Amino acid sequence: MENLGLLINGELVPGEAKLDVINPATGQLFVSVPAASSAQAERAIAAAKAAFPGWRATPAGERQRCVRALADEVKAHASELARALVQEQGKPLQEATSEVLYTELFLRYFANSRLDPERVRDDAGYEIEVLYKPLGVVIGIAPWNLPLLIGCNKIGPAVVTGNTAVLKPAPTTPVTTLMLAQYAQKIFPPGVLNVITDRNNLGGLLTSHPDVAKVSFTGSTATGRKVAASASNSLKRLTLELGGNDAGIVLPDAKVSDIAAKILGGAFMNCGQVCIALKRLYVHESLYEEMCGRLAELAEQMIVGNGLEQGVQIGPLQNSMQMDKARHYLEVGRRDGRIIAGGICPPSHGNFVRPTIVRDIEDGSELVDQEQFAPILPVIKYSKIDEAIERANRSEYGLGGSVWSPDVNRAKTIAARLDSGTIWINHHLHFGPDIPFCGAKQSGLGVEFGQAGVAEFTQRSVVSMAKT
Ligand code: NAD
Repeated sequence: MENLGLLINGELVPGEAKLDVINPATGQLFVSVPAASSAQAERAIAAAKAAFPGWRATPAGERQRCVRALADEVKAHASELARALVQEQGKPLQEATSEVLYTELFLRYFANSRLDPERVRDDAGYEIEVLYKPLGVVIGIAPWNLPLLIGCNKIGPAVVTGNTAVLKPAPTTPVTTLMLAQYAQKIFPPGVLNVITDRNNLGGLLTSHPDVAKVSFTGSTATGRKVAASASNSLKRLTLELGGNDAGIVLPDAKVSDIAAKILGGAFMNCGQVCIALKRLYVHESLYEEMCGRLAELAEQMIVGNGLEQGVQIGPLQNSMQMDKARHYLEVGRRDGRIIAGGICPPSHGNFVRPTIVRDIEDGSELVDQEQFAPILPVIKYSKIDEAIERANRSEYGLGGSVWSPDVNRAKTIAARLDSGTIWINHHLHFGPDIPFCGAKQSGLGVEFGQAGVAEFTQRSVVSMAKT
């Protein structure tokens, strides 16, 4: 944690200002870290631009070795990273440990990625190949819910394919990203990977800069629209992973006792602050009473507290703005439905909300239609499956969704009718480095992960040779 610095052109440097990181479990200062100025952001982009020709010419095997070395460092510092993650982000230590492990796994996947030339035709007349060339300077911008994992999911594929990068975490969760910068400094040639922080003031500069070729952004849909607008000046390549309002649909043949705990896990992981968390649950009328009762019972048993304490399952919300939103959604839940578990914010300096179940609520309520990003789950009754599908699809979002039934063929038919980037059957919130991840409608643009996601960091370039 000592000497955290910005990484610009291979050097760890102090910021021109300070950024206080507040521990959301205590409301106290966790640590002060450097914040970059506009001039430092410019320097980071200039360093990445200068490093690009050398890095793109570096053999792919060497680039892969560097990404693998970063994965090794994450593994070597796993425990330190996990504890820092709890204190900057709030999640329980077990979840933080998983985020660090996932970060390592994703980096290893990217380190093993190669986009070799693809021969699309070889006949008497032509030999035609598609090459995957790097784009140039890539900007990675991450949100505060999974700061380490999401940051690495941007820089890993960017640099392994020969781009250079500037990574910027969210202002409330910069610590683990700056720790990563310390490891990266010893691995990558100067300028290949730069890490800067901000006070929510450098996004516009980074995403509109003429020397930037691509922006890989994860955050809210509202900010995603701004990024798309500022990237339009030079038609930068864009990957946008944005908000979601995932619906779960429970069919009448589902067994409540088998699935209620899984549903709760899918809704309340990371205190509900996951883009692909289950955010509204449609339950067939024949199971509604039983499901509401079971969810409320399980929610009441959950242990809320400081993520560093043993046994805690739900930490605080990450920041005070999110806490204000949660208070608002609790009021909405009380007004538009009936709260049957939770509904309170325990008195504390931290941003705590008891896991909350709201029943007898309908579409049209903000708590159902908007992304709550808090541990407050609305449970909605339906009678006909066509109506549930229609309501699930009515959202402007289309990130994930799930169908719950032992009749998997029926569930698959319903999955095919849901307008989302991912639909899970009998689980929710599973993702991995080899599984393409994308948002439909206003949940995003482009794809991450899998070879398709890695290819998004490249320009396809066709070489067509005449044989005669
Ligand atoms: P946010 O949009 O407020 O901030 C995200 C990042 O954008 C931060 O680093 C912020 O500093 C930066 N930013 C702010 N203004 C900017 C601008 N004008 N230009 C460029 N960057 C700017 O989002 P958040 O509140 O940090 O994160 C929560 C949101 O992220 C939720 O909506 C959630 O669903 C979404 N999210 C999506 C995914 C996904 O993969 N689809 C994953 C995680 C989170």
